[in-house]
Amino acid sequence: MAELTYSEPKAKVIAGAKGDWELVIGLEVHAQVASKAKLFSGASTEFGAEPNSNVSFVDSAMPGMLPVINEFCLEQAVRTGLGIKADINLYSAFDRKNYFYPDLPQGYQISQLYHPIVGEGEILVDMEPGVARKVRVERIHLEQDAGKSVHDMDPNMSFVDLNRTGVALMEIVSRPDIRSPEEAAAYVGKMRQILRYLGTCDGNMQNGNMRADVNVSVCKAGDYEKFRETGDFGVLGTRCEIKNMNSMRFIQQAIDYEARRQIAILEDGGEIDQETRLYDPDKNETRTMRSKEEAHDYRYFPCPDLLPLEIEQSWVDGIAETLPELPDAKKARFVADYGMTEYDASVLTADVVDATFFEDVAKGRDGKQAANWVINELFGRLNKEDLSISDSPISAQQLGGILDLMAKGDISGKIAKDLFEIVWTEGGDPAEIVESRGMKQVTDTGAIEAAVNEIIAANPDQVEKAKQNPKLAGWFVGQVMKATGGKANPKAVNEIIAKKLAQ
Ligand code: ADP
Ligand code: MG
Repeated sequence: MAELTYSEPKAKVIAGAKGDWELVIGLEVHAQVASKAKLFSGASTEFGAEPNSNVSFVDSAMPGMLPVINEFCLEQAVRTGLGIKADINLYSAFDRKNYFYPDLPQGYQISQLYHPIVGEGEILVDMEPGVARKVRVERIHLEQDAGKSVHDMDPNMSFVDLNRTGVALMEIVSRPDIRSPEEAAAYVGKMRQILRYLGTCDGNMQNGNMRADVNVSVCKAGDYEKFRETGDFGVLGTRCEIKNMNSMRFIQQAIDYEARRQIAILEDGGEIDQETRLYDPDKNETRTMRSKEEAHDYRYFPCPDLLPLEIEQSWVDGIAETLPELPDAKKARFVADYGMTEYDASVLTADVVDATFFEDVAKGRDGKQAANWVINELFGRLNKEDLSISDSPISAQQLGGILDLMAKGDISGKIAKDLFEIVWTEGGDPAEIVESRGMKQVTDTGAIEAAVNEIIAANPDQVEKAKQNPKLAGWFVGQVMKATGGKANPKAVNEIIAKKLAQ
């Protein structure tokens, strides 16, 4: 497979009052594993269930309950690791991260601090055709999600919903390789795309199934390159972490605000406190959530309830064999096989469902034309109606049918658009519709010739003008199309008119 070649984009520079600054960003993405059961219990993970209806004794931390690892969740983490070309650790282990919070009945979260299941990987973050940032992933570990405190149902009381307690999360930690707000959003987008291709997380950010903690610092030109050479975090600025972001737009706004806040402090001679902050989209600002002094001492230690995980290389290899074609490879193949632009290929591979739809349409047909129709007619229409491809009233088979009728010369491109409209609103088999409604293109040259003769006879002045100026032949084409209800084969019409006017 031909690989696309990329160059790295430049870091974003923000001009302060006293000089230029660069951004350094690292993301911790929390992705909920697409599993029907929780990480250590058999309780359901269904979204939107009645509060506290999906809670087992393990999740509610009843004394004496023991966690049992859900092998399916483990497999999804390995699959995700393989999808980002990461090292899979055959030995990993669970640790307790101790803290008190009402939505955490155990009093600790089971996570993997010291020995994560997935090690170093990387993804390409596409910025524009031919330009992509290579972002390294440091690790992916498995951990439990917490429950939810509800503060807005009663003026005097808070409630706790434990449905999410114990749901499996993959925490995907990037290296600080991201250099602009746009890249941060694109990184989250690319990660979401890969997870959806792999099927290991549904990527639903609205439901909180995918969210990110965003670490931001600022530095001077050259500092970041020094960091990459030496690995010394000391040459970078102090970072702040913005918690729990679940919108790409807000991620960008929060980073931009946060960088400018830090620059103002530094230029004023101040220092950045390493702290956790929250973004307020209404005010477009970040606010302190907790500072370093209040930072938790999590007293991490290996979870005594769970044996270390030892997996076999052969099991990992088996999972590797079932990996689907991933976005970068699919994009490169679309460019190579269908002769489409890289831009069109990225539109068609943006989501795995779109790509599959396109390939169903393109199979055995003209790929370029198929791409054109899927992107312009279908996606254009879906966008206009705010529908996703899974709600498309036109199936791949129906759209393919329309293309077949064009390829056979039964309908012109213009009629095909009318037909698209009919199939969109009324459904049905395109070929049958063309037959039953008499939409077939007239290729019978005799019939076209008759129509041309009639129009020429009725418009002697136009004929004279057109003989002087061949460009005016278009007028006759329009008249013939009108007379034939748009069904005359345009190529035949053009040829016959040119011949008659030359006489
Ligand atoms: P913690 O649990 O304290 O948040 P992690 O190691 O899990 O620490 O995550 C740290 C995140 O912060 C990583 O994504 C890392 O790349 C990023 N990071 C570290 N140093 C900086 C820095 N100076 N500027 C921006 N991001 C940073
Ligand atoms: Mg963090």
